[in-house]
Amino acid sequence: MLEIIFATKNLHKVEELKKIAPKSVEIAGLPEGIAIAPEYGETFLENAIGKAMWYMKIVKKPVVADDSGLEIDALKGFPGVFSSRFMEGEDYKKKMEKILKMLENEENRRARFVCYAVYASPDGIVVSAKGTVEGKISQNIRGSKGFGYDPIFIPDGYEKTFGELGEDIKNSISHRYKAFENLFKMLKNLDIF
Ligand code: IMP
Repeated sequence: MLEIIFATKNLHKVEELKKIAPKSVEIAGLPEGIAIAPEYGETFLENAIGKAMWYMKIVKKPVVADDSGLEIDALKGFPGVFSSRFMEGEDYKKKMEKILKMLENEENRRARFVCYAVYASPDGIVVSAKGTVEGKISQNIRGSKGFGYDPIFIPDGYEKTFGELGEDIKNSISHRYKAFENLFKMLKNLDIF
């Protein structure tokens, strides 16, 4: 059994990945008291590699990290890589209300969640993979499951938001699911587990 640390301070993500990872991989959270990785990259990939390397150097064990966000076409991809930094310190209800306001009277509500997943190990191996889920922004905030912008994102093929659909459906179609599924396939092909 390969133990991989999911290098994130977001416990929702750790819980999601525990359900997504193959049975032969054990996902652990970060030990307590580690300084949070700075996030100043201009792309998801830069940030994901930055986080993986930052935490791997501290824990000296194989880690995975991700960087993810919501891209809204009518806002030219915003908040994108700034999804967590947008209105930093405010709760997500306020952030979602602001986004809905920015999209008021906007017919094009097309959006996607994007995730880059990165594996890094002390023996110098770095592997990355991408996953996306297409959908649209709802007219109002709906549902309380999941985290972040889940209550305003309706994935294609569904009428409900991720906030209403719940973890089983989200974890079988999400950007994070697809990115880590691709990543684990690559790690398997490289005989890493
Ligand atoms: P990260 O931790 O830097 O990857 O931050 C990504 C941010 O994008 C999160 O804080 C959320 O705002 C948003 N985000 C990423 N993935 C999801 C998701 O699965 N659901 C809802 N919001 C997400």
